[in-house]
Amino acid sequence: MRRDLVRFSKWLSRLGFTPGTSGNLSARLDAHRLLVTPTGVSKGLVKATDMVIVDLQGRLLAGTRNVTSEISMHLAVYKHRPDVQAVIHSHPPIATAFACSGRALDEVLCQEAVMTVGPVPLARYATTGTSEVAESLRPYLPGHESILLENHGAVSYGKNLLEAFMKMETVEHLAHVALIAHQLGTARPLQPEQVQQLHHAKAKYLQNVSAEAAKAPAKPARSPYEIDGGQPAQATA
Ligand SMILES: [Zn+2]
Repeated sequence: MRRDLVRFSKWLSRLGFTPGTSGNLSARLDAHRLLVTPTGVSKGLVKATDMVIVDLQGRLLAGTRNVTSEISMHLAVYKHRPDVQAVIHSHPPIATAFACSGRALDEVLCQEAVMTVGPVPLARYATTGTSEVAESLRPYLPGHESILLENHGAVSYGKNLLEAFMKMETVEHLAHVALIAHQLGTARPLQPEQVQQLHHAKAKYLQNVSAEAAKAPAKPARSPYEIDGGQPAQATA
């Protein structure tokens, strides 16, 4: 798990989503503990031994560094989404520009928006590191897979770090498409019936994916995002 946190930290850094020491990642270790990136460390340089373990109140249980100052954002997601196993917060530049312009990513311009993260709402402004952040996220956590944070950045989550990472990557892609489509001046959002058909297509796709997963051998799948010759995720800290 530590290796996975390092791996996805580096990917976010390489994409330019975590300038300076910004951005943070976490994953559930078990019902009571989270493995989290530390505060004040570049995501491009963070090491496996830098990671810290906290409980679901954010209290440090293990590690030599301090936990990220934005831990309350992660705790809010885990509290209101018991299905979530991993959370990523970052500052992807174009999605953040939408968040700084008071704009959600809820206009359906391309099919991928429906097939992947769905509408991305904008949570109202909250001072980073305070309990206001959890309050601002709470209304959007059920029913959304990624959320923009007003004048701040984005948070995404999923059943593992890869899924949370891919959602973050997709949010930035959708923001990029929306930006350019509007610059071109002739953006043509999908019609409601086209969106409806895509919902059917998505349900069918997800059915096929779970049927494939049921047929697949028991060994864990190798992540397409693995770098540095990494091994598949281990269920250890
Ligand atoms: Zn932040």
